[in-house]
Amino acid sequence: MKDFYDILGVSKGSNDNDIKRAYRKIAMKYHPDKNPDNKDAEKKFKEAAEAYSILSDASKRQQYDQFGHSAFNGMGGGQAGFNSMNMDDIFNQFGDIFGGKNPFESFFSGGRSSSKPRSGGDVKVKIEVSYAEIVNGGEKKIKLKRLKLADGATFSNCTVCNGVGQVTRVTNSFLGQMRSTSVCPQCKGYGKTIEKIPSGADKNGMIKKEETIKIKIPVGVENGNYMTLDSQGHEDINSNAGDLYVFFEEEEHEHFSRYGNDVLLQVKIGYSQVVFGDKIDIPTINGHASLKIPSGLQPGQILRIKGKGFPKLGKTSRGDQLVKIQVDVPKSLSKDEKRIIKEYYEIEKDKDIKFEKFED
Ligand SMILES: [Zn+2]
Repeated sequence: MKDFYDILGVSKGSNDNDIKRAYRKIAMKYHPDKNPDNKDAEKKFKEAAEAYSILSDASKRQQYDQFGHSAFNGMGGGQAGFNSMNMDDIFNQFGDIFGGKNPFESFFSGGRSSSKPRSGGDVKVKIEVSYAEIVNGGEKKIKLKRLKLADGATFSNCTVCNGVGQVTRVTNSFLGQMRSTSVCPQCKGYGKTIEKIPSGADKNGMIKKEETIKIKIPVGVENGNYMTLDSQGHEDINSNAGDLYVFFEEEEHEHFSRYGNDVLLQVKIGYSQVVFGDKIDIPTINGHASLKIPSGLQPGQILRIKGKGFPKLGKTSRGDQLVKIQVDVPKSLSKDEKRIIKEYYEIEKDKDIKFEKFED
């Protein structure tokens, strides 16, 4: 799959206007009307439309920047937004890029009604992921309530618009006949009205159903990242579903914290261990590692273990683990410890005390 930015010939930092301008140019050039029976032009035309549909949508663009194509590709059973794009969708976009006027009017005069409501609405859910899940990936089941058409609901054709979903008004003016089309006020564009409402359903014949769906956790995912599962939201009476937005939230960990792709851990060791240096075993987010403490290390210093941090989203590399070393000052001592430390105190008490500037 080609990079969306490359397809439109724009850079990653491009603003909405640049993207719109680039797409408009390509759409004009490869439009099927201008290139009849040209498969290559059609392919380029579709590619550009797909790229534009993602990059022109702030949330989809952000997702694409984070996850790449995988953001829209078969995650958790959702359908890819751009894979399912047909010519109708593409032409629907034109209203937006050509300022409400479609220059290719003739091409699609065949019965499209873009004023029909698209879906029953989006659903947003939040899922908590542990550090282990962020490292290893995996699947999580979530329960959600979606609006669906209730069993037994029946409809009849809307009598106001005859099932078309739109009403057309013709007025005569000195310029000639003017036709204006708008969404049918009776059926809100659905072309049908409810006849029988099953018990438990709302006035539109819709019912809330609890469902369990599986979400694939992307390795390396971070607080605030989200994915969109197409057509997994609320359905409308024509069974057109909105999208499902899944937001990821990190679970707090007992010891570790996260800074970008790095893992932070504080370790407390004994005075003698920092004086002489040592080798200690420490936990990592998915196992443990051996850490060499150099002799003379000062409390508060940070040691880095390369490649033991979080996996980077969509990449094979990983961040690092940063270990801050502190000295553990015991509050109670054994008999032996007391004797030895006391002995050492006798030497240390006569040493000069160092004065330094206060450290932040
Ligand atoms: Zn109607």
